[in-house]
Amino acid sequence: VIALDGLNKWFGAMHVLKDVSLTIDKGEKVVICGPSGSGKSTLIRCINGLEQHQGGQISVEGVELGPKTLSQVRREVGMVFQSFNLFPHLTIKENCMLAPMEARGVSRGDAEERSMDYLRRVHIAEHAHKYPSQLSGGQQQRAAIARALCMQPRIMLFDEPTSALDPEMISEVLDTMIELAASGMTMVCVTHEMGFAQKVADRMVFMDQGAIAEIGPPERLFHSPSSERLALFLKRIL
Ligand code: ATP
Ligand code: MG
Repeated sequence: VIALDGLNKWFGAMHVLKDVSLTIDKGEKVVICGPSGSGKSTLIRCINGLEQHQGGQISVEGVELGPKTLSQVRREVGMVFQSFNLFPHLTIKENCMLAPMEARGVSRGDAEERSMDYLRRVHIAEHAHKYPSQLSGGQQQRAAIARALCMQPRIMLFDEPTSALDPEMISEVLDTMIELAASGMTMVCVTHEMGFAQKVADRMVFMDQGAIAEIGPPERLFHSPSSERLALFLKRIL
């Protein structure tokens, strides 16, 4: 469970999150969309403490996020970025083994077993021994998903995971995310892939100018947006 209560964030004088309140239940899938600069990335980066908020509260699995609880919260939350951020000098398998060994004290043998398990789940086990540069963008992004899963998070955050990919690779990554959703993972996904949203999202959030402008089931937002801003936004991206 993620609870955001009256969240506010400024970058200098710029007010980028304005009183954002949102509760995401265990197993729930929430898709966040909205125009560039509306605060989508900032919002999800706040959830795992990559950005500090200045007002309001964030709690994850009942623990309030703050300096003392940062590492405790981070261990529950995995994150996947637009740029895959894999270590170029490590193989895919080594990328997956690193954090469990260094941050959790998992033994090399167990880390190896765990990484192969997750690489199988994202269907790239046969590439485990390759370096990121030897893989396609879609394969690298699936490796990044496996790497996050190796920390066994209870919540996964995605920030436009397919927007850096060539069109033919988008669906393989979305399929992996759909499988993850089916496994019961709690997911918060910033994406403009509306087919994915329709298939997977329990609720969709439309952010505009740092605030939640609309929230509801995707069918409702798609078919009867209550604001002109959302109607225009959907017309532009669909
Ligand atoms: P996009 O769709 O382009 O990814 P976004 O909705 O994710 O946009 P954010 O990246 O959250 O938007 O940015 C929200 C606002 O905060 C923007 O005005 C942006 O310029 C500003 N901003 C983001 N990161 C920083 C930073 N590190 N320092 C200063 N301003 C920032
Ligand atoms: Mg962004």
